[in-house]
Amino acid sequence: GSVLEIKNLHVEIEGKEILKGVDLTIKSGEFHAIMGPNGTGKSTLASAIMGHPSYEVTEGSITLDGEDVLEMEVDERARAGLFLAMQYPSEITGVTTSDFLRSAINARREEGSEIPLMKFIKELDKDLDFLEIDQNMATRYLNEGFSGGEKKRNEILQLMQLKPEIAILDEIDSGLDIDALKVVSKGINKMREENLGCLIITHYQRLLNYISPDFVHVMMQGRVVKSGGPELAKRLEAEGYDWVKEELGIED
Ligand code: ADP
Ligand code: MG
Ligand code: MG
Repeated sequence: GSVLEIKNLHVEIEGKEILKGVDLTIKSGEFHAIMGPNGTGKSTLASAIMGHPSYEVTEGSITLDGEDVLEMEVDERARAGLFLAMQYPSEITGVTTSDFLRSAINARREEGSEIPLMKFIKELDKDLDFLEIDQNMATRYLNEGFSGGEKKRNEILQLMQLKPEIAILDEIDSGLDIDALKVVSKGINKMREENLGCLIITHYQRLLNYISPDFVHVMMQGRVVKSGGPELAKRLEAEGYDWVKEELGIED
């Protein structure tokens, strides 16, 4: 198993401090949810973990199994076993979903031990089937002209194919109808059986009806201000965030 440890993380965008000391530890097999109002830094946290160049870490640390993640290039982070599903996945013209997946899988394997083509195709077909994705999607350019729901399913396809140690899923539920939400959740839950550690970032409790988190964290103003179990998500859904602010004396 793996451990992702985030300690006292401070992150700036264009000189403005967005994260102000985030502490979070995610282990293999654990599912954590981060909830919080818009603009509190949830996506910033995801981007900082994956090494987006616009996000400057000014203080604190991120380690994976004791290795300094902040010292790693973006592709090294992926090879080390981190996976990020973006809130807004980008389109990649000229690269098909299938090519993209195959090179990403091979990047995680030892040199000279690339996945055999037939094995790749077989496993891809199996996962396409499982996620109820049209076979055609594999030969289309990645995310190009994909609907919102198709992009999200494709992110979960990547998750299932790449089998990371720790995944960060940023608003994987946004814009999904109930059927797509069920399929996406089914994929995530399958990976959970395979001991995935996961950080689920969501604005709404809805997704957590299908993927029951072990831990729920509330983020406000760039910090994790409260942590609990699934009951915390239910209370947030029912009552909003004001009671947390009052309890902790946080001003807008
Ligand atoms: P959340 O995901 O919780 O809604 P974000 O992490 O996206 O919040 O944003 C946190 C804050 O950082 C917001 O005030 C937002 O305006 C600001 N921010 C995010 N990305 C950028 C950027 N690329 N440039 C400048 N400010 C940004
Ligand atoms: Mg947002
Ligand atoms: Mg966000």
